[in-house]
Amino acid sequence: MNSKFHDEGKSIYDFLHEFYIKCPQCGKFTVVKSFPNERGSFLFYKKRSLVCNNCGFVKVYRNSGGVIGSDYPLWLEVNCCGEKLWSYNLKHLEYIERFVSASIREGYCDEHGWKNNSMVSRLPKWIKERKNRDEILKCIKRMKDSIPKNEID
Ligand SMILES: [Zn+2]
Repeated sequence: MNSKFHDEGKSIYDFLHEFYIKCPQCGKFTVVKSFPNERGSFLFYKKRSLVCNNCGFVKVYRNSGGVIGSDYPLWLEVNCCGEKLWSYNLKHLEYIERFVSASIREGYCDEHGWKNNSMVSRLPKWIKERKNRDEILKCIKRMKDSIPKNEID
């Protein structure tokens, strides 16, 4: 039985609506929600809000510089295969997992070469290497287990 991964052409922007982070005050699991700006463009996820259910830390802010990335340490980040495996949120993590676990990967590279906007085409090479597959899946499972299920939608 072969499982197939078909790249839906999702870009990293499709996963930017929320980040799991370590609360800057207590270090516990916290979700940052980010909102598209008034123009609704995905390029401008500037307004962000975080509410820590553990210590009550609340912050609404605009991210300063880079469009992509979190302003706080990500919750989902582990050492894996001597590299850093990270993810913004569960959907993002499951997307990576589907890609890594699929025995047939199609759609991310066609006769025109890499589809550069797709997130999968931008995954680092070590994630795509089959010899790392088992360890990556193990790490992904650990990351999933670290998400407090009552804290997410
Ligand atoms: Zn906190």
